Amino acid sequence: MTDTPIRYRLAPIDLAGHRCEVRLTIDEPAADGQIVSLPAWIPGSYLLREFARQIETIEARSGRERVALTKLDRNTWHAAPCRGPLVITCVIYAWDLSVRSAHLDQSHGFFNGTSVFLRVQGRETSPCLLELVAPDRRQTFADTPWQVYTSLPEATGVAGAARRHGYGLYQAPDYDALIDHPIEMGTPQVARFVAHGAEHELVFTGTAPGLDLGRIAADAKRICEAQIAFFEPETRRAPFLDSAQRYVFMTQITPDGYGGLEHRASTALVCARADLPVTGRAEQSDGYRTFLGLVSHEYFHTWHVKRIKPALFAPYDLSRENHTRLLWVFEGFTSYYDDLMLLRSGVIDLPAYLKLVAKTVAGVERAPGRHKQSVAESSFDAWTRYYRQDENSPNALVSYYTKGSLIALGLDITLRNATGGQRSLDDVMRLLWTRYGRDFYQGRPRGIPEDALPALIEEATGVDASAFITRYAEGREDVPVRELLATQRIATRPPKAVTAAGLDVRVRAQGTDAVLATVLEGGAAHRAGLSAHDVLVAIDGLRIAGSAGLDALLARYQPGASVTIHAFRGDELRAFSVRLGEAAPAEPAFVAE
Ligand SMILES: [Zn+2]
Repeated sequence: MTDTPIRYRLAPIDLAGHRCEVRLTIDEPAADGQIVSLPAWIPGSYLLREFARQIETIEARSGRERVALTKLDRNTWHAAPCRGPLVITCVIYAWDLSVRSAHLDQSHGFFNGTSVFLRVQGRETSPCLLELVAPDRRQTFADTPWQVYTSLPEATGVAGAARRHGYGLYQAPDYDALIDHPIEMGTPQVARFVAHGAEHELVFTGTAPGLDLGRIAADAKRICEAQIAFFEPETRRAPFLDSAQRYVFMTQITPDGYGGLEHRASTALVCARADLPVTGRAEQSDGYRTFLGLVSHEYFHTWHVKRIKPALFAPYDLSRENHTRLLWVFEGFTSYYDDLMLLRSGVIDLPAYLKLVAKTVAGVERAPGRHKQSVAESSFDAWTRYYRQDENSPNALVSYYTKGSLIALGLDITLRNATGGQRSLDDVMRLLWTRYGRDFYQGRPRGIPEDALPALIEEATGVDASAFITRYAEGREDVPVRELLATQRIATRPPKAVTAAGLDVRVRAQGTDAVLATVLEGGAAHRAGLSAHDVLVAIDGLRIAGSAGLDALLARYQPGASVTIHAFRGDELRAFSVRLGEAAPAEPAFVAE
C-alpha cells in the first residue's frame, strides 16, 4: 500500500445557512472501488449520533468524469472504480451547538473531524493533509479576519503550510489523529500559559463582559502543573507532546450550558457565562469552582481515556457501539481526581473540597436506581441507557461518573489504610500510565483488558482489592464513604432533623406550571399514585405556582401530614390523597478533625 497523504479541504461556504464544503482527494483509490464512511459516534460520548445524516449532498469525480457513488448503509458509500485521483465533495450542515458535532454561523465555526471528514477504508493509517479555507469575510459578524485555533499541527515540508492560527495546510499522522483535534475558527478571546514547559491556550468563544482571563489562566496553570507532576513526577513531561505542540482549551460561552469532551491534545468545553470570573472580583463562586472542575476533568482525560484506555477502545470501532464494563474506571476515577487536583494544586481549600465530595454523595444517595444497576453494568449499557435518559432513569440507573468517583475515593482510602499510608490509588494511576498510556501514540496502542484491574492494583500496591471491586463496582452496594472518611480523620456531622415535608419527586418548570419530571420509586408521590409528566395544580385547594410555589406550600406542612393534591394527567384533572414524606435530606457535612 502506498503512503501518499489523504487530502482534505474544509471550507465554510454559507455561514448564515450553517453549511461547509468538505472535499476529500484520494490519489490512489482502491482498484475495486473505494469505500468511504463517516463515524457513527464521537469517542468520549457513548451514543450513536449518525453524523452522516447532516451530509446534504455528496458527489464523486475523477478528473472531469463523474464517478458513481452507491450508498451501502447509513454512514458508508462505495465509489465506482476509477483511475484517480478520486475527489469526493460533500456539503455538510453544521448547526449543533454542542461539543460533539459541528457548528457554523457568522460568529464562528467549530468542527469535530468525526462530523466532517470521511474515513477512507483501508487507508486509516495513511497520513492526512488538511487544507483549511477562510470564510468570505463579508459573511462574518467580525471586523477582523477569523483565525484558526486547534491542536492539529501545521503541515511541515510542503507548499501552502499554515502558519500558527492561520489558514492553509495542517497534518495528521493518520485518520484517528485527524478526527481527534477539533478546530475552532473565529475571533475569540485567548489567553496563554506555560505549564512545566508546555504551551497551553485558553480560547473563549462568545461574549462575556469583564472576563478575567488572567485569573483563569493562572488557576488553569496550577491545575495542569499538578496533573503533569502527578503522572510524570520525574520528567514533568506533558502527555500531549507526543501529538501536538500545544494543548488547547476551546470554550463556548452559553447562557446556561455545561459540558466537555476530551481529545488527545485539546478539549471542547461549554460553560455558563455566570460561572466565569469577572475582573476585579476576587471571591471564588461555586460556579467558577464548577468551571475549574470541568477544566481539571477534561485535562485529566489527556492521560486517562485518551492514552490509558480500555482494550476495547484500542482501536475504536467507529461504525457501531463499543461496549466496555470499565467506563466507571475512566469517568469515575477522572471525576474523583478532577476535584482532588483542585485541592492538591491549591486552587480550592479542604473545606471547599469536602463540600464537593458531600454534593457527590448526596447525588448518588438520592437515586434509587443505584441498587438496580452496578457501575459496570451502567458502563456497558451507556449507549442505550445512561446516554438516553428519561423520566424513570433515577429509579433505574446509576451514574458511573458519580458512583465511580465514590468507588475511587473508597478504593484510595482502602489502599492507604492497607499499606499504612505507603501506597494509594495514585500508584495505580501511575502504573496504568507507564504500562498502557505513555507510549500509546508511539507505536504501542494497547489498552486495559476488561478483567485486568484487580491484578494491576495488586501489582501497584500489594493490596488485593478484588473483593472491594466485586462489592461496589461489579455489585450494587453503597460505598461506605462516611466510615472510610472517618479513618482519614474526616468526620460526618449528623444531619439536621428534617422539618419540611416533601413529595420525593423531581420537578421541572414549564411556563408557570410545576411538572413532575421524575417520581422517585417508593416515595410519597409514588405511593399516592402520582406520575412523571403530571402537572401539579393545587395542594389542599391552594394553587401551586411553579416549582418555587410548590416548595413554599410544602414547607407549611410536617412530614407525615395528609393532603389532597390535584394534578392534570394529560388534560384530565385527578385528585390524589398524599401522605407527605420528608423534604430531600440536606447534603452530608464532612469536616476535618
Ligand atoms: Zn469525562
